[in-house]
Amino acid sequence: MEATTLVRGRYVLEGLDGDRPLVHEDAAVLLNGDKVSEIGPFDTLKDRNPGAKIVGTAESAVIPGLINAHHHIGLTPLQLGSPDHPLELWFASRLALRDVDLYLDTLYSAFEMIASGVTTVQHLHSRAPGGPEQILHAAGEVIRAYRDIGMRASYSIALRDQNRLVYESDEAFLQRLPESLRPEMAEYFRRFTMPLDEQVAVFGDLHGAYKGEPRTRVQLAPANLHWLSDAALEAAAEMAERFDVPMHMHLVETPYQKIYAQKRTGGTAFAHLHRFGLTGPRMTIGHGTWMTEADIELCADTGTCLCHNCSSNLRLKSGIAPVNRYLERGVAVAIGIDEAGINDDRDILQEMRLVLRMHRVPGHGSPFPTPPQVLRMATEHAAKTTPFAAEIGRLSPGLAADLTVLDWRAVTRPYQSGDIPFVDVLVQRAKSTSVRSVMVAGELIYDDGRFTRVDRDAALDEIEARLAAPLTEAEERRRALAREVFPYVAAFYADESWAVRPEKPFYRWNDRA
Ligand SMILES: [Zn+2]
Repeated sequence: MEATTLVRGRYVLEGLDGDRPLVHEDAAVLLNGDKVSEIGPFDTLKDRNPGAKIVGTAESAVIPGLINAHHHIGLTPLQLGSPDHPLELWFASRLALRDVDLYLDTLYSAFEMIASGVTTVQHLHSRAPGGPEQILHAAGEVIRAYRDIGMRASYSIALRDQNRLVYESDEAFLQRLPESLRPEMAEYFRRFTMPLDEQVAVFGDLHGAYKGEPRTRVQLAPANLHWLSDAALEAAAEMAERFDVPMHMHLVETPYQKIYAQKRTGGTAFAHLHRFGLTGPRMTIGHGTWMTEADIELCADTGTCLCHNCSSNLRLKSGIAPVNRYLERGVAVAIGIDEAGINDDRDILQEMRLVLRMHRVPGHGSPFPTPPQVLRMATEHAAKTTPFAAEIGRLSPGLAADLTVLDWRAVTRPYQSGDIPFVDVLVQRAKSTSVRSVMVAGELIYDDGRFTRVDRDAALDEIEARLAAPLTEAEERRRALAREVFPYVAAFYADESWAVRPEKPFYRWNDRA
């Protein structure tokens, strides 16, 4: 018989009942293979399971594995040469990004996520060039990295059939360019253009290929309103129904996207999705920074989830999402680090703290997210936005044994008053340097600073060696193209019809005025 495992802690957090943490002291989680079998007093469970392997100590804290509900790439755009422009201009500067091996790239951010306690990622693959074969190969490389490192992953490839650079058709944008730039830009668009029916077929193939995988699932990602024709919105709704999969869709990330929706539909982006049957518990809105009061109400009424990408919104000048309003309305809010957090890495503990602090609106009686609410965003609510919804996000018996063990002494040394509840200390003080072990499906994938399945140093050396090579001809050309096209992208939004005039100072966006 296989030896059982006991994961021990001074504190074991089972999950949250609403916003009330379920904390067990001097306890342990008893595993049964890849699942949680029981949580109880450590001494009792140890007596009953004398041969059990013990993970953690009497000074540990054991929490459900954290979930990054919105992720795209490994090496960050900043690392690859694109500074933090406002989103619409950043699309242009990102043309210059270097070609990075997808397998190594995926490992790179997986190292950062896991080391900060993340066990599950929502990987939204934004763009891969080529036809169905190349797309499936690219997906395979990303998924292979997650499987090799042992991480749980929900994978999706963006559905996108129009407006590939600015918020108008590719053909119309090409006409804005001088003739000398058109062929190269047209070629770029062509590389990233695939007919809608082929994209639907690719999804079917991908979904079928990973069916029954314990740690990998494939779901849908209709990219964003401006990237999708009404036909593509219909296709997304049809596929979600047919395959019974969740969807994650960027929406009103910036004020320009709000204006775009107004121009296209005469109303809001979210109301437009609702008309296509795209709202509901299967749908998670990524960002939702510029949803109106009525949108937020509809979001709550339909059970649509929100993924809050706080760092990304700050870095790309997108705005501050009305998170307090979503919470007040009872919307399930998840946390996503998006491209990268404010330290240009993928540290979920830091991102949680940023969310905790960002929405503390001035005024003694003003609403603000509490530490348990923020923890729930990175556990149960994030779980809800993935195909693993009912299996992860808590450590209750029968659920997946995905957990993170922290050195609680390192978190609290030299002193922590007992008047402050466990979860409040966890969310406000825990750093990734205190993460000791990370377990997915009952398997230790990170232990004492070491990844158990993949050699981090070797992977980083390999990335370093490959990128030390001079830019390839194709990379040099894209770099030049990004610089040459940038002013035309900026000019497109300089038109009066795109003028953004915040009516209130940004710090008041959350209040009731
Ligand atoms: Zn994103």
